[in-house]
Amino acid sequence: MRTLLILGGTGEARALAARAAGWRVVTSLAGRVRDPRLPEGEVRVGGFGGPEGLARWLARERVGAVVDATHPFASRISASATAAARATGVPLLALHRPGWTEEPGDDWRRVPSVEAAAAALSTLGGRVMLTTGRQSLAAFAGLGLFFLVRTVDPPSTPLPARHHLLLDRGPYTVEGEAELMREHAIDVLATKDSGGAMTAAKLVAARRRGIPVVMVDRPPMPDGVRSVSTVDKAIAWLRGIGGA
Ligand code: NAP
Repeated sequence: MRTLLILGGTGEARALAARAAGWRVVTSLAGRVRDPRLPEGEVRVGGFGGPEGLARWLARERVGAVVDATHPFASRISASATAAARATGVPLLALHRPGWTEEPGDDWRRVPSVEAAAAALSTLGGRVMLTTGRQSLAAFAGLGLFFLVRTVDPPSTPLPARHHLLLDRGPYTVEGEAELMREHAIDVLATKDSGGAMTAAKLVAARRRGIPVVMVDRPPMPDGVRSVSTVDKAIAWLRGIGGA
């Protein structure tokens, strides 16, 4: 049986692992989350040691295909996968869910980075719901605004002086998100364009409450990598290269 390496850490990666029949499936996780949701099949945890380490791993495990199903903001591992696939000739597909799109009634400000999000906030509100992720918090630490910070695991970097920390990982409901915004008198939401249904309720809640959203855009994907946005299309690609 040929080996499929799924670079994981997302719901799409778990769904693909469950459906990639005909392959020996190994999902790789970075090891950041304390209690990760585990996929079907084999799991390995921890970095590979850059593109060279990943290329060595692909050769050693005789990997027949790689699907980069990491989070759209995990850009270092995607660059690493691109370089390692080129070096070894192993076929690579990127599987990234579509980003979110603004709807009538939304008031979004798209920004290119968390630093730009931090700079945009002070003119928009004083009480921020912040869901840009644990690794981005340093960019907001120096601001005097109030932050309702929501992360999956406890942050290890400094937090803004005025904050309330909420550890949670969804899925969330519109009613729950609207209640949180009401309870903390939130007047602006800062988030990143992760896409997907699991965490989209906050956007609907913000629309209903008339709250502006600062949306951090996705980093660019490495050039020349074939990319799909659904698990069905990834399965079709696997069939096309002779498996699943
Ligand atoms: P990153 O900045 O792209 O990666 C940093 C380093 O972590 C990589 O160079 C790699 O180390 C290691 N790494 C990342 N993903 C890996 C994987 N799936 N398997 C093995 N090693 C991995 O990634 P990140 O933003 O820290 O995200 C880490 C993981 O969390 C990703 O797998 C991603 O799918 C998941 N995640 C990220 C976010 C987010 O917002 N960034 C949100 C939800 C889930 P080496 O160079 O040593 O190989």
